[in-house]
Amino acid sequence: MYRSTEPELEDELSSLMEALVRTDLEAEAEEYTPAATGPLFDVACNGCAAGQCVACQSGACTACPVAGGGCRRIVFDAVVEAIKLARSTADKVDAATATSADSRNKEQKETARLYRFFFCHDPSWFISWAGGPSGATVSTRLRAVANELDGGRRLLFECRAQGGCNAFTIPGVHSTVFLCPPFWATQGLAGLPEVNRRAGTIIHEMLHNLYDLDDSRRFNNPAQPTPRRFDAHCYEVFLLRANGYGGDPTDVAACGQAPCEVF
Ligand SMILES: [Zn+2]
Repeated sequence: MYRSTEPELEDELSSLMEALVRTDLEAEAEEYTPAATGPLFDVACNGCAAGQCVACQSGACTACPVAGGGCRRIVFDAVVEAIKLARSTADKVDAATATSADSRNKEQKETARLYRFFFCHDPSWFISWAGGPSGATVSTRLRAVANELDGGRRLLFECRAQGGCNAFTIPGVHSTVFLCPPFWATQGLAGLPEVNRRAGTIIHEMLHNLYDLDDSRRFNNPAQPTPRRFDAHCYEVFLLRANGYGGDPTDVAACGQAPCEVF
């Protein structure tokens, strides 16, 4: 089984090197020590091509609906893009947070505008219980997501048959992301290439994994004073828009259902 995965791993290594050249990840990685190892993950599914999937421990896996069986490559490309997007967004938020509103350049103004639109306040807004500006919390979470995706932990992506979702997590089931059929599909959303859409979905699910951000917290804990900072949909659509991509209208609507500040 391990022998049969070797060509696939070589393929991943060479595409990682291509991705590093393409996306500046190498230069960014130098800012972090120890050096990132690159994505570490398994895909659990049934019925895919040899070497694509590990055994399904849960017994509830389905086939990843990818023509040609290239499941790992699609996940790998999405994870590499997610690392890039999460770090790029953290940099943008930090730059806008550190610059007073009247001194911001064009890009910082746009980042702050989108931040206010989705999170309801300026990234520089001081949140007493967070011990700093709102933007610092958001950028710290996004950098942690990037670092965990970049080899900080080994992740399991498990294919499931559920409809009505791109992906989901289960509270208490750590380091695991469940991928639904629409994750693999060509959705053709405006201004949003499939690899970037999948990257946004993976970041969304990693926020659930790392921080227990809960899309339903607004129902479980309506007293939460800044609900959108706890809603993974808001992070997902904000980071795609801040990087010049379209947002998934489903995420825009879901984020908008969460109230703004509740005092
Ligand atoms: Zn969610």
